[in-house]
Amino acid sequence: MIEVPFINIDAQYAELKEELDAAYRRVMESGWYILGKELAAFEAEFAAYCQTKYCIGVGNGLEALHLILRALDIGNGDEVIVPANTYIASWLAISYAGATPVPVEPDEHTYNINPSLIEAAITERTKAIMAVHLYGQPADMDAISEIATRYNLKLIEDAAQSHGARYKGRRVGSLGDAAGFSFYPTKNLGAIGDGGAVTTNNADLADKVRLLRNYGSRIKYENEIQGFNSRLDELQAAFLRVKLSKLDQWNTRRVKVAEQYLKTLVQCPNLTLPIVPDWAEPVWHLFVVRYPQRKILEQHLSQCSVGTLVHYPIPPHLSGAYSVNNWQRGSFPITEQLSQEVLSIPMSFHMTDEQVQIVINSFMEVF
Ligand SMILES: *Cc1c(COP(=O)(O)O)cnc(C)c1O
Repeated sequence: MIEVPFINIDAQYAELKEELDAAYRRVMESGWYILGKELAAFEAEFAAYCQTKYCIGVGNGLEALHLILRALDIGNGDEVIVPANTYIASWLAISYAGATPVPVEPDEHTYNINPSLIEAAITERTKAIMAVHLYGQPADMDAISEIATRYNLKLIEDAAQSHGARYKGRRVGSLGDAAGFSFYPTKNLGAIGDGGAVTTNNADLADKVRLLRNYGSRIKYENEIQGFNSRLDELQAAFLRVKLSKLDQWNTRRVKVAEQYLKTLVQCPNLTLPIVPDWAEPVWHLFVVRYPQRKILEQHLSQCSVGTLVHYPIPPHLSGAYSVNNWQRGSFPITEQLSQEVLSIPMSFHMTDEQVQIVINSFMEVF
């Protein structure tokens, strides 16, 4: 029986071995490992890709979001509106900066933050809205941006799952004041380790993030502000340059796989498929279905050697990390229900047509 693993990360190295090995040798032989030519080149290339003026490479996705908040002077006593339904890193970045995450429920169809519920969550202390493009699908940025403008709030994108996605034709990463990206190995654009980036069109903000990632220093041993150490290293930048050149091709393959799933799985009763608004061009970081008896579906697919995962089984407000807030079960019912029903099925650009067909056949057997 042919197995369909949830993800097949080593396929990237198999495809790009020569280029990645050459990038490795180039950096090793250069004798320059931090803040050098590879990073500068990657930053220029990724900014161009995201249609922004600036890109700043940082240590990981959490740091990207954290440093944006710091650069915007958001911290103690401030509130930031964030989706209730997201990966916990979105919340942790806000807490890390000393501010308070204020959760808002998702739209029941797109699973992204519901813009019509944002205003009710705004207080005197609100400083920003953090929109998350969950599963690779852009949030409704025009609606969110309109509220941010009206209340004079900053708008931050958590684009960690959506490299290359478009909203009304524009790339995510260019839709707010600044965006945070992650290059964790399993993301659509992944490093061979940790990595992250901030994109923005704001020169002052870019300059501040650049200072913050490097001890608050522009000139060696001159520390203008209290900074951090969060830099994307030369080796990762060199690897990312190789992979960035493949990103559109890889995302196109994901779209093809998603089209196959959407076309065929629609026949399965009580299975909820992802909905794509007409303004969205998602990049399918994950393909997430909903099913009331998830456990049964999980088990059946596993018997057919089809790997699945749950993103995410515990919403941030019910996790130990936020137990101090004492959120009760039922505080965010849509988010909580999603956490009980969502199931991510195999989705990657290296899936063969045969593997896609096996996943589909397995569903047909179950239903
Ligand atoms: C992965 C991810 C992050 C964090 O990125 P790291 O590089 O792991 O720190 C933040 N937000 C979302 C939505 C993510 O999926």
